[in-house]
Amino acid sequence: METKLIKINPDKLTKESFKEAADIIRSGGLVAFPTETVYGLGANALDDTAAVKIYKAKGRPSDNPLIVHISNVKDMEELALDIPDIAYRLAEVFWPGPLTMILKKKACVPYATTGGLDTVGIRLPANRIARFLISEAQTFIAAPSANLSGKPSPTMAEHVYKDLNGRIDMIIDGGKAVYGLESTIVDLTGELPVILRPGCITDRMLESVAGRVELDPAILQKTPMEGLRPKAPGMKYRHYAPEGKLIIYEGNIDRVIAVINLEVEKKLEEGHRAGVIATDESLRLYSCGIVKSVGSRRDETSIAAGLYKVLREFDEAHVDYIYSESFADNSLGQAIMNRLLKAAGYSVVKI
Ligand code: AMP
Ligand code: MG
Repeated sequence: METKLIKINPDKLTKESFKEAADIIRSGGLVAFPTETVYGLGANALDDTAAVKIYKAKGRPSDNPLIVHISNVKDMEELALDIPDIAYRLAEVFWPGPLTMILKKKACVPYATTGGLDTVGIRLPANRIARFLISEAQTFIAAPSANLSGKPSPTMAEHVYKDLNGRIDMIIDGGKAVYGLESTIVDLTGELPVILRPGCITDRMLESVAGRVELDPAILQKTPMEGLRPKAPGMKYRHYAPEGKLIIYEGNIDRVIAVINLEVEKKLEEGHRAGVIATDESLRLYSCGIVKSVGSRRDETSIAAGLYKVLREFDEAHVDYIYSESFADNSLGQAIMNRLLKAAGYSVVKI
């Protein structure tokens, strides 16, 4: 299959520029498009054969549900049953934006889209290209991240091209994803809202609107999922992983830097390629290996936005080992550490 690459300027959206992409979606094909979280791989959410194509193109396990993207708050009523009042309140504050709500699904949503579940994840994205595409396609768009399953999520069209060229119909290049981490997922089907995946809408932010909110125990876990049955099926898979072995170092930052320097030196002597995930603040304190800054500790949003890009750059550099500093795991840091821990397969060294 030939993958067509088109560029759309988010400040100049015309019906004409979306015609071909919308036709592809309507006829059951696959279009990757930018969202404010990461790039999504879209298909008609109401067409089960189209949804199946997403799993095939990504190599994604078929029980890992897809999030359905809509272009108007009202659209959630087309997809979900028994919508609680709290969903409307959260939508009013956080939509359009990086929040996915899990609700009971209507019969029109195929099980191929929900990974066999009776619930559906719904999000109204803030990215204007994403919303324009959904409304031009005149349907709802199921879209997981547009990467090969298990790889770091794509934050730029180039990342999508690298993973999915030849496997999908079209890629829309609309520039960098501003947040760089997948949406916060909150399950609204139980007594209390439960966060299944932390993201840029933090627990505090949700609580300011919804009152008490629970965190799925798997989020706080610092070891693999053994023993815990994940509520969000995707949580059980190894995710976001670079090719090299990633190890996180936790503790006093000066000591972390000293230990990482020694480790890198040792690996280089053994003939391996080694890299370091540093920050703007620590970059110059590392003495050897390939050292990259993920962002600034003074601005956590820069770290969220830079994480997947740095992981992918280490893949390009074919490093065998990657050593990373760790980050505070509250607020946005909770989402950052959640992804970093998964990328590292929970390999953490405490100093
Ligand atoms: P992705 O779009 O690749 O970030 O993955 C979507 C993730 O959303 C899945 O891996 C699940 O963890 C979660 N998800 C989507 N729909 C549901 C649902 N109905 N119930 C629980 N989790 C869901
Ligand atoms: Mg994903």
